[in-house]
Amino acid sequence: MSATVKPFYCLRCGHRYRAEHEKGIVVERSCPKCSSNSVRLVPQEGAGRGASTDDD
Ligand SMILES: [Zn+2]
Repeated sequence: MSATVKPFYCLRCGHRYRAEHEKGIVVERSCPKCSSNSVRLVPQEGAGRGASTDDD
């Protein structure tokens, strides 16, 4: 049980949000805004570039 909160984004409407994500486990997700299931995990930036994935 080691779920962490990760940023996700919706391919359809571009909405970004955070949700729990457990490494190695694929869960079908739906966008809380448009209900599309085209939701992807936001790729993590490389270390040293600072946080640039703020939502809203
Ligand atoms: Zn959406």
